[in-house]
Amino acid sequence: MIQTRQREVILSVLLDASRPLTREEILRYGRQKIDRLGSATVDRAIRELSENYLIVGVEFPGQPKRYELPAESEHPHFICRRCDRVFDLPVAMRLPDIIAPKGYLITGGEIIYSGTCPGCLKKKL
Ligand SMILES: [Zn+2]
Repeated sequence: MIQTRQREVILSVLLDASRPLTREEILRYGRQKIDRLGSATVDRAIRELSENYLIVGVEFPGQPKRYELPAESEHPHFICRRCDRVFDLPVAMRLPDIIAPKGYLITGGEIIYSGTCPGCLKKKL
């Protein structure tokens, strides 16, 4: 088991960011809280936290896997085309119910929007 302190740091990094983070981002922000945070430790903590559903993985086509805290309600995600960061859109939204075509078992779905995030919109080009 990973030390509690390191798991707490990872959870607090995700809480502070309030958007899904890649393992590199978790490592980078985590090191601002604990100097000697090893990447193997972060990988192990991510695995343990995922197995216990304390964090969930989010995967988008062509993007590195990201992690976020379990959401209280379903929400769409947003990818910024300028900085490549992914955000949770604070909009209550349910996935539309669909009838699975014959031969398909559907176990999940995602609504993803894309565009420019508030931070990038503020920056002058
Ligand atoms: Zn952006």
